[in-house]
Amino acid sequence: MKTKYFSNAINHLRTITRHRHAVIRHSRRAGIFRQGLLHDLSKYTPTEFCQGVKYYAGTFSPNETERKEKGYSGAWLHHKGRNKHHFEFWTDYNSVERRVMPVKMPVRYVAEMFCDRVAASKIYQKENYNEKHPYEYFQRGKPNRFIHPETSDLLESWLLMLREKGEKETFNHIKRTVKTGQYPKKLPIAITEEPHPED
Ligand SMILES: [Zn+2]
Repeated sequence: MKTKYFSNAINHLRTITRHRHAVIRHSRRAGIFRQGLLHDLSKYTPTEFCQGVKYYAGTFSPNETERKEKGYSGAWLHHKGRNKHHFEFWTDYNSVERRVMPVKMPVRYVAEMFCDRVAASKIYQKENYNEKHPYEYFQRGKPNRFIHPETSDLLESWLLMLREKGEKETFNHIKRTVKTGQYPKKLPIAITEEPHPED
């Protein structure tokens, strides 16, 4: 198979930069602007960038292809090991359970994860995007996600708020929560076990 390295490199660069800029715009609104400026910078390191070019597909993550070929994605292992907005970063050995368990993420990284998910939905859905999409995407992965339950609930509640009340209100709310540095005692919108969204 002939790989089109040059055009892949241009396209991959464009994809990751466009995504980064969308996340930065959201981060400003969520009160984590300086943190947002550093979002996903490791994607420009050779370890991640070269794999991204080699396995560039355009419509899905190059990590998927690398994983199929090698049994793991080196680019992803590199990425999740140094980007704290990924819940996969937040796992550690738990001496009570005697196994690796998810750890509660600091609230400012939950906020960055929110910004990341909304940006990704917009980029994938293009003109079809609406404020239900990030919530629906969250629900599809929920049963299999290895994430601390309180972190999961906080993210879910914010995504639900986005769906119900829109961006302005949700970003303002997140900004206030980030300022406290704490998980709220009561979630802004209660999470109910809703039937699986059909779309
Ligand atoms: Zn990332």
